[in-house]
Amino acid sequence: KLDIAGKILAKLGAPIREEVVHAVDKVDLTIRKGEVVGLVGESGCGKSTLGRMVAGILPPSDGTILWKGKDRTGMGGKEARAAMLQAQMIFQDPMSSLNPRLKVAEIIGEAPLVHGLTSRAELARYVDEQMRRAGLDPAFKARYPHQFSGGQRQRIGIARALAVQPEFLVCDESVAALDVSIQAQILNLFMALRRELNLTYLFISHDLGVVEHLSDRVVIMYLGRVVEEAPTETVFARANHPYTQSLLAAVPRIEARKKAFATVKGEIPSPLNPPSGCHFHPRCPHAFDRCRVEIPALQEVAPGHKSRCHLNDLPNHGGQPV
Ligand code: SF4
Ligand code: MG
Repeated sequence: KLDIAGKILAKLGAPIREEVVHAVDKVDLTIRKGEVVGLVGESGCGKSTLGRMVAGILPPSDGTILWKGKDRTGMGGKEARAAMLQAQMIFQDPMSSLNPRLKVAEIIGEAPLVHGLTSRAELARYVDEQMRRAGLDPAFKARYPHQFSGGQRQRIGIARALAVQPEFLVCDESVAALDVSIQAQILNLFMALRRELNLTYLFISHDLGVVEHLSDRVVIMYLGRVVEEAPTETVFARANHPYTQSLLAAVPRIEARKKAFATVKGEIPSPLNPPSGCHFHPRCPHAFDRCRVEIPALQEVAPGHKSRCHLNDLPNHGGQPV
């Protein structure tokens, strides 16, 4: 494949680690350079765990993470450090990831200085540039994180990530803690940065509405398994999987959308003891006998569109629930 240089492949097996047993179960995900992939699911579905593994923060106990075609776990020294810098993570709560004792200029300037991406003489100018990119006024660089609003703190987190010149951002619920109007501003910033810096994104959210305008492709996870994967328009026009359909029903289709939390009927079962067969069967309105005993395979229902549902094996099903 020609785009192998920009390819990240996560082939992950379970169990991952003691505290996240079965958090992610045999996920095979490829993200191409320049692509924005939305990863959606309810809490406990394993999306954060997967994001951390893709970003190189959490090693998989089994399986491999390929960064530009090479196994991350086998990398050492310079190569490992470069991969670490190239993939940056943006978290939900910037306050907990920003050192409250450091000034913004120090927070943003620390890593690029350590890694030789700028010199001490150039540092002030370098920090100003990152702040401007993230929509912050460099005049405030001597302030501390608590002196900023939630949205501005998220911009500080983004400026800090940009300062190490990443190619790939893993955003884990990066706008979930913000007011709706601020959410839109931060999402617009991510899109502007994509164009300006040719960034690749894995955009993790519990909210299908948040990833809609941002993602080229959407991957839906349920209890550690990918249940559907398709181009964004396809997911919104003809979702195949009953779980995706119930998530879509919870997304308000109005212009000034309110904060939409996915509401699917029934409790989310424990990831430590997931239901047999199709994990979704206790909550699925279309479940039949086979669903309780047999794990559905993730199969292609149309070019580029995969779904994990036994309904697709029924004759004359046509990709919609019967
Ligand atoms: Fe529902 Fe069965 Fe499809 Fe699972 S496999 S989503 S339970 S119809
Ligand atoms: Mg999470």
